[in-house]
Amino acid sequence: MADELLFNPRTYDPAHFDPETRRLLRATVDWFENRGKRRIIEDYRTRAWLGDFLAFAAEEKLFATFLTPAGEGAGDQRWDTARIAALNEILGFYGLDYWYAWQVTILGLGPVWQSGNDAARARAARLLAEGEVFAFGLSEKSHGADIYSTDMLLEPDGEGGFRATGSKYYIGNGNAAGLVSVFGRRTDVEGPDGYVFFAADSRHSSYHLVKNVVDSSKFVSEFRLEGYPVAAEDVLHTGRAAFDAALNTVNVGKFNLCTASIGICEHAMYEAVTHAANRVLYGRPVTAFPHVRRELADAYVRLVGMKLFSDRAVDYFRTAGPDDRRYLLFNPMTKMKVTTEGEKVIDLMWDVIAAKGFEKDNYFAQAAVEIRGLPKLEGTVHVNLALILKFLRNHLLEPADYPAVPTRLDAADDAFLFRQGPARGLGSVRFHDWRPAFDAYDRLRNVARFREQADALCEFVRTAAPDEAQSRDLDLLLAVGQLFALVVHAQLVLEQAALTGLDDDVLDELFAVLVRDFSAHAVELHGKDSATEEQQSWALGAVRRPVVDEARSARVWTRVEALSGAYEMRP
Ligand SMILES: Cc1cc2nc3c(=O)[nH]c(=O)nc-3n(C[C@H](O)[C@H](O)[C@H](O)COP(=O)(O)OP(=O)(O)OC[C@H]3O[C@@H](n4cnc5c(N)ncnc54)[C@H](O)[C@@H]3O)c2cc1C
Repeated sequence: MADELLFNPRTYDPAHFDPETRRLLRATVDWFENRGKRRIIEDYRTRAWLGDFLAFAAEEKLFATFLTPAGEGAGDQRWDTARIAALNEILGFYGLDYWYAWQVTILGLGPVWQSGNDAARARAARLLAEGEVFAFGLSEKSHGADIYSTDMLLEPDGEGGFRATGSKYYIGNGNAAGLVSVFGRRTDVEGPDGYVFFAADSRHSSYHLVKNVVDSSKFVSEFRLEGYPVAAEDVLHTGRAAFDAALNTVNVGKFNLCTASIGICEHAMYEAVTHAANRVLYGRPVTAFPHVRRELADAYVRLVGMKLFSDRAVDYFRTAGPDDRRYLLFNPMTKMKVTTEGEKVIDLMWDVIAAKGFEKDNYFAQAAVEIRGLPKLEGTVHVNLALILKFLRNHLLEPADYPAVPTRLDAADDAFLFRQGPARGLGSVRFHDWRPAFDAYDRLRNVARFREQADALCEFVRTAAPDEAQSRDLDLLLAVGQLFALVVHAQLVLEQAALTGLDDDVLDELFAVLVRDFSAHAVELHGKDSATEEQQSWALGAVRRPVVDEARSARVWTRVEALSGAYEMRP
């Protein structure tokens, strides 16, 4: 029987979506299954361009349907985060390279859909309908996360347009995009007022593709513009709005990384459990070892936690508006927490399957490589943790009233994502109380134990928070950020568990892991250079031992073991 918590192509039928969405998601799964494992892996190993997949997507109008906002399109076209998340998971499941071409298309569209330029939006909608992909030209070779320092220079041409000259680096789809959204600054205006986002065409003669920066089917380009003519109708944003468009686009785009990492972990898990359960050493399957069971069970419940958190975050993303910006916390959480959980899931499984994880005929070998990228792209773990910290005090200590947010699988268009407004004012965002989610599960002993740690963190913030000097020590702050991130993770996991009626055993087992994680991060904080004595003693006092229950663990193990043979990709 298929595990109802994990995506399984054999049984996948997304009946909770409208008929066209359901058909397109299933057709995508079928396209990959029909292509088969051998071909998919061969394309990955030979770094083949994704032309066949993009031709399928063009023919089915997959990207056009999923990525054209309702206001720009017709029929089933809308920007619906729930179904976008579902497609991320499928694409991650079959290969991150496919996901990447779609992901950077989303990023490339961000500045366009946020733009007041009607002609540019109509052009983007037409290109999508024609099956074109898009690109997001923000990063530069010398500047990394410091996008203020752009050297893409726009010189006024005297006719309301510009000539753009400069290079961009790490730009996905820069080899093929019908439209590249490029960030730069005017030569004649100083400071933030000089920023410009404009639409370029990768086939124009002044657009020079230099190379693929990486050795992969992903085309992560370096390109150079030499006096590229930017007409007034190519300008998407100017001044501070251009900067906000960059950040708000990343806000929309980085939400996709969590579900991509979930897809990677799911595919890898079927392979890993199937291999371990059938590998016989000293006359017994490897899964008879207690440490192997522990590792695979931890991987399973961590993966379930990733799914619960991400699914619940979708609801907040879709319910967001000018008066409800809670997504600004849950979004970087999906980015740094869910994707780093994904790394742990793969690590745990790789320790078990060892040599098998290197073999070229399996998906696992690419999962082990690709899972590493997601925490690093679109803002590193540091950058996202630093962002999360801005919400700590309000989230933990200053709850506000909000109407309850239901599960959001409805066929709505998430229009607010393209009018998020200024990216400032994060410290004033308020949150609903995190405690009721815990109260609803106080019968589960590890939830109760984790609650003690969460309460202790509130006490820390009230009584031993980093002082003025420590507030500049990001090394210390990031350790605090990890503790906070765990509380937020646990909260949304509990909310989603309640909404979906998750099995108590799985939830309690997951919280046993979270209790251990909190303890480990507390010990980490204890060892930080600048931790005060008060903080050190708080940290050790927050260490807890999870509640052991052999019968519960055995029941969870039965679920994990049942994954053996539950799915194998068509050869
Ligand atoms: C495969 C791939 C695909 C990509 N695709 C695209 C794309 O399509 N379009 C695009 O525009 N870009 C793309 N990028 C660029 C990517 O977004 C950058 O890698 C990312 O922004 C981080 O920049 P960096 O890696 O140069 O790190 P740097 O910015 O050089 O950071 C160095 C270190 O400083 C830390 N740091 C930097 N700023 C802060 C801060 N404010 N607070 C705390 N710590 C900080 C970082 O965490 C890191 O440890 C891609 C990169 C890769 C590798």
